[in-house]
This record gives sequence, structure tokens and C-alpha cells, in this order.
Amino acid sequence: MSTSITSANQELAGFAGRLIGPDDSDYDEARSLYNAMIDRRPALIARCANTADVSKAVGFAREHDLRLAIRGGAHNGAGLGSVDDGVVIDLSLMRDVVVDPEGRTVRVGGGCTWGEVDAATNEHGLATPSGIISTTGVGGLTLGGGLGHLTRQCGLAIDNLLEAEVVLANGELVTANAEQNPDLFWALRGGGGNFGVVTSFLFRLHEVDTVIAGPTFWPVESGAEVLRAYRDFMPSAPRELNGFFLFGSVPPGPPFPEELHLRKVCGVVWCHTGTEEEAAADMKPLLDALPEPLLHGPAPMPHPAIQGAFDGVYPAGDQWYWRADFVKQISDEAIEIHARFGAAMPTWKSTMHLYPIDGAAHDVGPTDTAWSYRDANYNAVFAGVDPDPANVDAIRRWSIDYQEALHPYSAGGAYVNMMMEEGQERIRASYRGNYDRLAQIKAKYDPDNTFRVNQNIEPKAA
Ligand SMILES: Cc1cc2nc3c(=O)[nH]c(=O)nc-3n(C[C@H](O)[C@H](O)[C@H](O)COP(=O)(O)OP(=O)(O)OC[C@H]3O[C@@H](n4cnc5c(N)ncnc54)[C@H](O)[C@@H]3O)c2cc1C
Repeated sequence: MSTSITSANQELAGFAGRLIGPDDSDYDEARSLYNAMIDRRPALIARCANTADVSKAVGFAREHDLRLAIRGGAHNGAGLGSVDDGVVIDLSLMRDVVVDPEGRTVRVGGGCTWGEVDAATNEHGLATPSGIISTTGVGGLTLGGGLGHLTRQCGLAIDNLLEAEVVLANGELVTANAEQNPDLFWALRGGGGNFGVVTSFLFRLHEVDTVIAGPTFWPVESGAEVLRAYRDFMPSAPRELNGFFLFGSVPPGPPFPEELHLRKVCGVVWCHTGTEEEAAADMKPLLDALPEPLLHGPAPMPHPAIQGAFDGVYPAGDQWYWRADFVKQISDEAIEIHARFGAAMPTWKSTMHLYPIDGAAHDVGPTDTAWSYRDANYNAVFAGVDPDPANVDAIRRWSIDYQEALHPYSAGGAYVNMMMEEGQERIRASYRGNYDRLAQIKAKYDPDNTFRVNQNIEPKAA
């Protein structure tokens, strides 16, 4: 192992960032991932300061025939931002955010996290859609698709991606947008980190400033009734209203009332981009259809506040095991299964979310980008989470059993950003008809599969 760091120090002359190896005192910190269940020991962490560094690190890995991982925000559930005995391209120094308020765009460094982007764009009353936790990396979340609180109004993160700067497997830096390398631009929008290292992203911005956001909770015992009402309500709700269904537990701290702390609940986490009155009117049909909730918390807040609302509950360093499936319709039988597993969450941080993917996400066709499941209405994610490694078996078992019980009611494939390492068939099922085109584009831009530490698309020439 140490041969690599020694030769890297000699060979990577002019490397502007930092090269970190097993003998460095901060190696353990530098290699740690968000999901503490995954423990990887890279031979070299190339913490790049600029695109030239990225290019050098890619070349070094290829020359020494070392596996190469790309680390953005390090949130990947399967730990695909790192690799044993290989090279990690760590982008955490590359996090410039430049907002163009007139042009309504934001240019973002490849190593940024969403909290940094949301804070910068909110200064201008603008936002671009992302996920629900502010510490997640822009890189991984975007390249896999990007689902969050603004999906119904503004589409997926990739639907707002205008351009990417990419270091390819041959070390070359290229631009991908609608005019330049359009095949690469198509593949990047859903194809994950398969095609190169994205050193900067350009996103379209929307006028989203203050939102009406927060949760409504009912007792977990009402799971079937609430989910049935949610299923009947959500498709006809206006796009300004996003609401994902959850099973979870009330966090044990403010702003939640003490008597509810750690109580298992079902509910909806809302985000409305209109006024308080509009939000109340748009949520009303669901609230009218159900008994009085335990808590109804939506309130006006700056957009970054809802983006970071889960951060305290889910810090880095917990054990995570999750599975996911796309869903077209939620049948009554599926609801009964949900209610059973929802009531049996093994730890208080374990949760199930159903993210709507209709509205603006359906304005884009299934072959317009690599992300093929435009006909799905929900992404279901079954996340077993706990700080204690002793509970790993319990959280893994619950997540797998839950997903397997519902898989027959799913659309077939899964959101690649919420998969563990589940095999090639599962990846193919998640891209459906787009897989072969992706494999051809992969053969053009990365014929040797240099970028294979990911939900891998194997290169296949036409
Ligand atoms: C707590 C939590 C909450 C989440 N919430 C959401 C959510 O609301 N919506 C959602 O859509 N997803 C969500 N996710 C899933 C998330 O999108 C994936 O885990 C994603 O892989 C994280 O990206 P990252 O950059 O942080 O990860 P990393 O582990 O750093 O990278 C993961 C993979 O992304 C690729 N990658 C990352 N950056 C680049 C880059 N610049 N260039 C090329 N490839 C790159 C690489 O292939 C790498 O293997 C969440 C994950 C967690 C753990």
C-alpha cells in the first residue's frame, strides 16, 4: 500500500491539493464515510484542488492499474465514494459556488454539499431542487437523479442541470451540455459517476425563497388509514405542494413536544412554495379526510431551513442499510404490508419514505435523460439506521424484508442513489431501455471502465 503513496508523491509533481496515505495522521478521518457500516482503506486519497489535480490522479490510478473511486459528499449508502487499496479522488476542496442572479444559474464545484448551494442561492431568493439533507454531496445526488422537496414543482436535480465540466478517463477536461458532447450530457443525467469526474455543475435556479414546510404526524397505528388517504390525495395536489409520506419516530428534542419524543408515527413532510394561506388550502383535503393529527407543524421558513431540517437526526457516523424501489401505484395490499413493517421499525432512526416523483418530473420523457423511471409516481426507500453497530443485523433485516415484501408491488427497478451493492441485474432493471445506450456512451468515454466504483454500467460498443 505505502508504495502507492510514495510513488504518488514522486510522480504527481505539481499536485496542488494533498495526497493522503495510510501513514498520515489524518488518514482515518480522511477515509471515513457517512455510513459508518462501511470501512474502506484506500491506498491513496488524492484531495484535489483543481481540475489539473483530478486529471493527474486519474492518470496515476490508470498507470498503476489501481481501482478509482470518486468522493463528493461521501453520503453514498453503499460507500461507493471510496475503495479498498485503490485511489480516491476526493473533491472536498473544490466547492466554489457562484450565483448569477440575473441569468438565474448557479455554478457549483464538484465537491460541494447542498447546504452550501442552498445558502448561496437563498441570498437571492432563488433555489434549485436537490435532496432533503443538506450535508449530501451535489455530485452523487445530481448524477443519480436528485429527488427532494422541490421535485413536484421544479423536477429532479438533473432536470435543472444545464452543463457539466468533466475530467474523462483519458484525463481530458470537456464540457457537456445540450450543444457540446450532448451524448455525454444525456448520460450524466442519471448515469451516476460512470462517465468521468464532474468538476463543476451549472444549474438553473427558480424563484423559491420562503417555503411553508414541516411535518404532520399521526400515530403509527393509523399507518394504513393515513397512507390510503395520502395515496388518494397526492396525485391531484398542485405542484407547489410537495409532501413525502413517512414512517419514523418523533426526534427526541426541540421543537417537538416532549410527550411525543421517540413516539413511532406515520405522516407527511410538507414543503409548499406559495403563501401560508395557499399551503393551508392545498393541504386541507388530506387533513379533512383524516382524524386530528398528533402534530401539524408546517410553518414559513427560508428554503435552506427545511433542507437542513433532518441534519440533526442523521449526522455522519450512523450505521445505514437501505433498499429502494420505484412505485407506480400503491395498492390496498401494499398499504397493509407498509402498515405492518412501519409499526415494526427496529430503531428510532429507522424510517420509510415515499417520495413523490410526479409533477414537473413527469414533464421529461423516459428517454430524454438517462433516468428512465419517469412513469413511476413514487420512490420508496426503506432505511434501517442506528448509531450502534450492535444493531446492524436488525436494521439490515428490517430493510431487506420490507423491500422484498413490497417488491412484487413495485415498478421493478430502483433509484440508483438509494441502492446498496445489489448486482448487475438490478442496475440494468433501474435503467431499463436506457441501459444499452448508456453502455455505448460508456464505451466511447470510458472504454476500460476506469470509473467502475459506482452502480456500474459496463462499456459495450455499438
Ligand atoms: C442521509 C442521506 C440523505 C439522502 N437524501 C437524498 C435525497 O433527499 N434525495 C436524493 O436524491 N438522494 C438522497 N440521498 C442519496 C444520495 O443521493 C446518494 O447517497 C449519493 O450517492 C450521495 O452523493 P455524495 O456525493 O454525497 O456521495 P459520495 O459517496 O461522495 O459519492 C457517491 C458516488 O457518486 C459519484 N460522484 C460523486 N461526486 C461525483 C462527481 N463530482 N463526479 C462524478 N461522480 C461523482 C461517484 O460515482 C460516487 O461513487 C441521501 C443519502 C443519505 C445518506
